[in-house]
Order: sequence, then C-alpha cells, then structure tokens
Amino acid sequence: MSRPFQFMLSTTKLHLSLSLSFSLSLSLFSVSAINISSNLSSRKKMSSFDWVFLISTLLLLGPILTFSDSSSLSSDGLSEIPSNFLNFAKKSEVFDWMVSIRRKIHENPELGYEEFETSKLIRAELDNMGIPYKYPIAVTGVLGFIGSGKPPFVAIRADMDALPMQEMVEWEHKSKIPGKMHACGHDAHVSMLLGAAKVLQEHHELIQGTVVLVFQPAEEGGGGAKKMVEAGILENVEAIFGLHVAPEFPIGEVASRPGPLLAGSGFFEAVISGKGGHAAIPQHSIDPILAASNVIVSLQHLVSREADPLDSQVVTVAKFQGGGAFNVIPDSVTIGGTFRAFTKESFMQLKQRIEEVITGQAAVQRCNATVNFFAKEKPFFPATINEKGLHKHFRNVAGDMIGIVNTKDMQPLMGSEDFSFYQEMIPGYFFFLGMKDETNGKLPSVHSPYFRINEDALPYGAALHASLAVRYLLEFQPKVPLVNEKYHDEL
Ligand SMILES: [Zn+2]
Ligand SMILES: [Zn+2]
Repeated sequence: MSRPFQFMLSTTKLHLSLSLSFSLSLSLFSVSAINISSNLSSRKKMSSFDWVFLISTLLLLGPILTFSDSSSLSSDGLSEIPSNFLNFAKKSEVFDWMVSIRRKIHENPELGYEEFETSKLIRAELDNMGIPYKYPIAVTGVLGFIGSGKPPFVAIRADMDALPMQEMVEWEHKSKIPGKMHACGHDAHVSMLLGAAKVLQEHHELIQGTVVLVFQPAEEGGGGAKKMVEAGILENVEAIFGLHVAPEFPIGEVASRPGPLLAGSGFFEAVISGKGGHAAIPQHSIDPILAASNVIVSLQHLVSREADPLDSQVVTVAKFQGGGAFNVIPDSVTIGGTFRAFTKESFMQLKQRIEEVITGQAAVQRCNATVNFFAKEKPFFPATINEKGLHKHFRNVAGDMIGIVNTKDMQPLMGSEDFSFYQEMIPGYFFFLGMKDETNGKLPSVHSPYFRINEDALPYGAALHASLAVRYLLEFQPKVPLVNEKYHDEL
C-alpha cells in the first residue's frame, strides 16, 4: 500500500473522531462539488438521498481532495514564495555566507563517516541561527528542525562526504588534505541546505508544521542514508526532497523525472586463485590471469545475452590486479566492479549470475574463485524512484521560481544515489540542479579530479529546498493537528 493512501485513511479516521472543522469542509466542498456535479451531469438525476450521501462523503474525504488538487491553491500568494526565496538567497550577505561555508568544507574534505569537522561546522551554523538539532545520528549525521516542532513533518537532505582522490584544480581553496577531494559537490549540498535553513528561519511564519534538515554522512558507497533511516529519522515524516549539482545542465535549470531516475547499484570483488610459476613454463602453473580474462568476457554476456534489452542494466569490471613481473605467472588475480539495474528482480538476478559466472568460468581454467559483494560495508543501493505526485509538486514550485521551460524532464541515468533508501520508506523526490555557465568554460563531470562548482548555483539550490518544503506543508497537508500520533519529541 502506498504511503499517501495510508495518510488519507488515517486523516479520514481522525476527522471522524474530531468532528470536522466546518469552515475547512465548506471550502473544500465548494471546490470539489463543481467537479463532481459536472461528472454527474451526464448521468441520471440524483435523489435527495444521493445528495445527502454525497455531501457527507465529501465532508469526510476533505483532506484527500486537498491532496489531489493542490494547484487550486496557487492563486493565493503561493506562487510568489519560490521567487521571493530565490531573491533572498541571492542577497549578497546570504550568498557570500553560503560561498564561505562551501569553500571551508572544500578545503577540508572528509570521507564517509569521518565528517566530524563538517558536522561541527554545520552545528555551529545551526546554533548561530537558533535552530535546534539532534546529533550524532549515524556517526556524524545532524538532524535540524525549523517550524512549529509539530506535525506535519517534511524533510530536505544534503550529503556531507568527499571522495578518496587527489584534487587537480589549482585555486585558492584547493583541498588541503592530500588524496581527498569534494569532487561530487557535497560541499555545495551542505552549503545549500544551510542556505535553505536561513531562508526558512527568515520566513518561519510560512511554515505550517516542521521542516526537518537532514545532513547525512557517507553517500559515496557507504550508505549513510540507510543508517539514518535505521536511526528512525523518517518517523512521521511525510515526504523528503534531495538534489544533486549537475555540471551538464545550465545554471537556472533543473531536471528530473517521475518514476525511476537512477539505477540500483552494487559492488563485487573476486579473488581468482591459480598456481604461480615461471612465465616460460606455463604447463607447471595454473594461470589466473587468463582465467580472470575469460571471466571478464563472460560477465559481459550477462547484459548482452541474458537481460531484456528493454530493461537497462550494467555490469562493469573496473578493477584488475594481478602479477608484477614480466616473467612470473602470479598465484592470484583480483577483479572488481559494479552492477546496476532498475528493478529488484533484475538486480538480484544479476548478482546471482555474477557469482555463478565468476566461479564457473574460473573452474573452466582450473582456478578457484571467491566473490564478495560487500553487503555490510557497501550496502546495495535501491533504484532512485521519484513519487509521481511529488513530480507535479516539483514542477509547480520550480516552474514558479525559474520558469517551466527551465524545469526539464530527463532520461533515467545508470548512476545511483543512496537517497533511494529514504524513498523506500516514504515518498521522496530527487532532482538535478544545473551549474553550467558557458562564460566560465566547460565544467568537468562529477568525480573528475578537475571537478569545479559554479557557486552561482548555490542560491537556486537553497531556495528550491526551502520552497519545496514550505509549499509542500502549505499545499499537501491537512490543517488539523495529528493529535493521535507521536512525533519527534526531542524538541
Ligand atoms: Zn559522487
Ligand atoms: Zn554525489
């Protein structure tokens, strides 16, 4: 059962027990009755009993109708919220503050679950803004709260971790830690979420409930989102939004899609063992290099011969380590890589076949093989699947801010995101934030040692986070408190 449906049922029950607010019901009825009466006009005439039944049904289903008809509210000032927020985030004092945070984090990149200084900086800024938070969650994670402290709750999320790679960009704020770099833009993500916090704090009178700020560790393979979920951060949260900077889209543009956006992903590593010896006397050895080579070729047949061509999947061997001399056959070879798919079934089928092919093909060459999927250290990421109702919300909000022509639909990508762990629990929406600005030259892709952030994108990200959350609370949620439910009691 989908979450929105559960929500509808519980609010309906609540209305029954609370004896519904009359004014709310009346306004809902006036919107809904038009639709329903026009639907009925082509059918038989209704008896007075039918009308009584219809009216009482409408009264009970009031919140459902608000959920499905959010666009009818966009005439009363809601449409101005996103552009007002953007103007605020572009103010020089806010912009400069976001830039300075981003640069500070960029200079001191920290890997997954080691984001101690980043987390400290976040908490210091939340303290400065007077925003309460919970810490630590999942080692370094921080959960901030803005608004009434009461339901409904909506979450916005940033990841904090860097990558184990050397920065090659020579600039004033280059990484000061050798071998570590913010090459995926998570430094900008943190800065934008703090920017959103500032926007929200300045406009707190608009928050009809509570916005939860999720600063999570270890997105790059560590599954920090999974640990945050296990810590219970989504308890009673109705929806969550996340973004990623995108060097390939122009600044002032955003892109996403309803349904599957990013693939599910897993990693594997195999040790293929033979028997080492002199390279000139192969008959006395069992050559694991040749076995591993055949394994790799056979793995390529999984997608090309076994998968449905209309069901996108990837198997890539990205690691091959074996031998160190020109004239020695090594004892063993280690290979490793990643596999991707959009459905759980395809994903698990790939996993099973990867193991079978590696062990089976190694055996053909008289080698033994062991396969490790790192299920604990690098949990499989589910596919990132955007909830359809939230897609409409995103288009409305982003359209109001930057124009609907700059709110693009995009094709799915085989990349992955641990944001999907949140989406497994509650409706969630993930989108890409454009950064490209031709005047500054082409921006290298994420995970490049030459990766750069166009800091002009920061106000867009901050304002979008804040607008998506505020408008969600204003448009999607019932106006009555959910008195029967327990909620985040740390406030
Ligand atoms: Zn990344
Ligand atoms: Zn990333």
